[in-house]
Amino acid sequence: MAITMCPGQDTSFWRPGDIFEVQCSNCGYAVEFFKDDASRRCRQCGRQVANPKLNLGCALWCEHAEECLGYDPKKKMAAEGEHTSLVDRLIEELGRRDPSGEMRSRAIGVLEQARTLMSAEGGEPKVILAAALLHQVAPSEASRLLSELAVDAASAEEVTEMLAALADSRGPGSLEARILADAVALAQGDPAPETMSTPAGKVLAENKNKTANTT
Ligand SMILES: [Zn+2]
Repeated sequence: MAITMCPGQDTSFWRPGDIFEVQCSNCGYAVEFFKDDASRRCRQCGRQVANPKLNLGCALWCEHAEECLGYDPKKKMAAEGEHTSLVDRLIEELGRRDPSGEMRSRAIGVLEQARTLMSAEGGEPKVILAAALLHQVAPSEASRLLSELAVDAASAEEVTEMLAALADSRGPGSLEARILADAVALAQGDPAPETMSTPAGKVLAENKNKTANTT
């Protein structure tokens, strides 16, 4: 046996048993969690909900956590926390644009898929999270909004370019663009695994199709 699994962890975190629902403390909506998520955003009201079952156990202090899990849980939490205020402000803006909340809830759906893909594939969080939230906004509008929110010009340009590519259904580009394309496809339905642009997207699409076929 080449690799000995740390007894506190199980890396096959895509299994259905590792996904569960928690009620949003603000509106009661069922928020879906992966067992390693520190927190997730409510799709209905946008509130950040903490994962009550979070049990990274030894992973938070073990020096082998990164090779064991495939990512460093401390880095993952830090990377997501750093962009919380940008995410909050974009969600707020979407709520202003569409008072029915539909635009916001679709955006949060894509955001959650993007976060899951990002935890397996990597990529620049700021660019991915902003593009996921703005996927229904015209590129020129998105560009204006990001500059209002003081996002650096290089990241804003990357987001704008990704949105333009998404609108034209252009082929896979950067890792961030591929994550965005997969996140949108997964949030909107049950895409065929072979149409996915990233390996994690393919696994998620396969799992979704399996669930769809057994229920
Ligand atoms: Zn809520």
